[in-house]
Amino acid sequence: MKYNSTRSNISCDSLNAVLSGLAPDGGLYISKDILNSGFDWKKCLSLNTEEKASMILSFLLPDFKDMEELVRRAYKNKFETPDMTPVVSAGKFEVLELFRGPTSAFKDVALSMLPVLITSAKQQTENTEKTVILTATSGDTGKAALEGFHDVEGTSIIVFYPHGGVSPVQKAQMATQKGGNVTVCAVKGNFDDCQNAVKKVFREISNSFVLDSSNCRLSSANSINIGRLAPQVTYYFTAYSRLLEKKKITLGDSIDFVVPTGNFGDILAGYFAKLMGLPVGKLICASNANNVLTDFINTGIYDKNRPFYKTQSPSMDILISSNLERLLYLACGCDCNKTASWMENLAKTGKFTVDSETLKNIQNVFLSYSCNEEETQSEISCCWKDYSYLCDPHTAVAFHAAKLHEKDEDHNPMVILSTASPYKFPKAVLKAIEPLSDIQNEFRMMERINMITGVKIPSNLSSLESAEEIHKDVIEASDIMTYVLNKMGVRK
Ligand SMILES: *Cc1c(COP(=O)(O)O)cnc(C)c1O
Repeated sequence: MKYNSTRSNISCDSLNAVLSGLAPDGGLYISKDILNSGFDWKKCLSLNTEEKASMILSFLLPDFKDMEELVRRAYKNKFETPDMTPVVSAGKFEVLELFRGPTSAFKDVALSMLPVLITSAKQQTENTEKTVILTATSGDTGKAALEGFHDVEGTSIIVFYPHGGVSPVQKAQMATQKGGNVTVCAVKGNFDDCQNAVKKVFREISNSFVLDSSNCRLSSANSINIGRLAPQVTYYFTAYSRLLEKKKITLGDSIDFVVPTGNFGDILAGYFAKLMGLPVGKLICASNANNVLTDFINTGIYDKNRPFYKTQSPSMDILISSNLERLLYLACGCDCNKTASWMENLAKTGKFTVDSETLKNIQNVFLSYSCNEEETQSEISCCWKDYSYLCDPHTAVAFHAAKLHEKDEDHNPMVILSTASPYKFPKAVLKAIEPLSDIQNEFRMMERINMITGVKIPSNLSSLESAEEIHKDVIEASDIMTYVLNKMGVRK
């Protein structure tokens, strides 16, 4: 399986795609081969979770040796439930819980795997460079990446998050991170400012001499890295297996997945699962008030020139959704020139429009609904009242979309992806289940939620309060380049 850029004919193998993260032309690595895959999806469904992961990863990243061993190493003793990603019922809905890992967000599934992949790719390519992981985070990627990469030999990691743009718990998770190779820094601006600045650093540094003299190579832990995306395919297969076991479906029936979406990585992994043969009906893209994707999927016009809202579901506060580029490429018949010109329009004018054929291909699979702030609150509250299910605000956005999708007569059995522990966002959750509460401190809020609901607080979150804040830097977005070079020990 050859990987090529979405924007030109640049190509490489899966080892180098994982090592570099972003293609040198600014495009994302993708493989056309996924379109005529011949993947034995039925066999995959009969395997246990680790075996599924290694079969899927061996298919998507075929140049890696000993994938079974890599998977074992990545996931050993990391998740709090025996089943890494359990499926539970909430009323009539099935919920795929992806937040049982070390940082209580779904990103743990991929970010437990990525450091192992990077280390292994370096060994196989006899690469002795230091890998510098540069990451922009809207809240959850940062901590999950830090957890995955801290003290991993031959790597260092720099995480940028929007100053004031993440929840206090998310901030505490990152600011208290230990490890000799970690840097965490707040950036004045929103997530898009962070992500754009980081992408710019990639483009400028990767194409210059700086790295040669420092023996460093940049890579990314964001879902622009195919090594981050590939491990996420596994849980779509796991969910299907669980529904078979629960006798909710029979083999071959289609399932619709409802995915709370920001950077379009999670839902794109669902599309990969579909392309690999898994009977996926519709993929429902659930957006919060930043509904740029909902508008795009409904009209074919992507327009980021709109107000940016800081919502209760901050991990989805994104107006430039990176992985959409991979879907566009696949949906337009793998035309890199077309994709490049849309991306150029987006960079220049903040806007692009796809042709009707491409839009039709997208709408055949994807539907989208958005959920405003009041609706998010009322979903958290209803889920608790009606189903005794405590959900976080991101998952609430998905519940909202699921209920709208249910009105469509053609819908298939649905699985809602639950992407974070409710305890990561105690303020929004407590407000929904006890509106009159006047508790101000997020850790007291956690205790109060626990008292009301009896749902256990994950220990990685309750222990944060007593942890020391180590990282305090706050910088302007325009200073990210200098900051990175300094951290890498390079002078411009
Ligand atoms: C990152 C994140 C999302 C969005 O996932 P994408 O892959 O960026 O679409 C949704 N929910 C939570 C809790 C997240 O951390």
